[in-house]
Amino acid sequence: MIKESAYTFKILRYDAKEPERRPRFCTYRIRVIPGLTVLAVLLRIRDEIDGTLSFRCSCRSAVCGSCAMVINGKLDLACRTQVAGFNTDTIILEPLPNFEVIRDLVVDMTPFWQMYDKIQPYLIRRSHAPEKEIPQSEGERRQIDQFVNCILCACCWGACPVLAREPGYLGPAAAAKLERFVLDSRDERPASALSLVNDEKGVWACDTVFRCIDACPKDVRPTDAIVGLRKAMVKQSFKKILGKAKDET
Ligand code: SF4
Repeated sequence: MIKESAYTFKILRYDAKEPERRPRFCTYRIRVIPGLTVLAVLLRIRDEIDGTLSFRCSCRSAVCGSCAMVINGKLDLACRTQVAGFNTDTIILEPLPNFEVIRDLVVDMTPFWQMYDKIQPYLIRRSHAPEKEIPQSEGERRQIDQFVNCILCACCWGACPVLAREPGYLGPAAAAKLERFVLDSRDERPASALSLVNDEKGVWACDTVFRCIDACPKDVRPTDAIVGLRKAMVKQSFKKILGKAKDET
């Protein structure tokens, strides 16, 4: 027989439509079998105990990125976090930091998507459309591998200390996606595309403290992208300066 264990789930509840009711923890005591995820428990609480509990989820397979939250102080996906993996029988769930809370664990992702949209997150081609697909070598694909793996869960946004003090900052995920296309051998965006993020609210705002890397559930390293973009910008500037110097001689 499978052994059940009792866990206490403390979930931070708040409804932006009722601001007079302060954020508060609600407690649920649940019996859990080994192998159950935090998301499975949330679904059970909502379906069997409290239908007003709000959270996002979709794929249950760490692919859609919609169930990102803070679980016992760590930013992670509820669908890939095993309840039995903690050394405690109390699990505290809070919404992602650095976002406005809409309700309970649901946050307003608008600023995150605005920054994603800003970097033009798609292949840009300037030559004629080819008749067949454009092949990539293994090496070319490897260059973008880690950035392709980003599922846009926003854990990195929640972990970022720059966003905590500067809400207009580009954020780690948008930088990772821009680098993903800049490094893609099929992409033909003009060098001037980097100017979209070449300012004090763009890649230069990053403190390079690597919290985004620690928080990412898909092992993406957004700081690598930020450093890569910074290097590309410095190269561009040097080229311009050298070009001017040549013209003047
Ligand atoms: Fe999520 Fe990682 Fe992508 Fe950030 S870089 S959105 S943490 S998958």
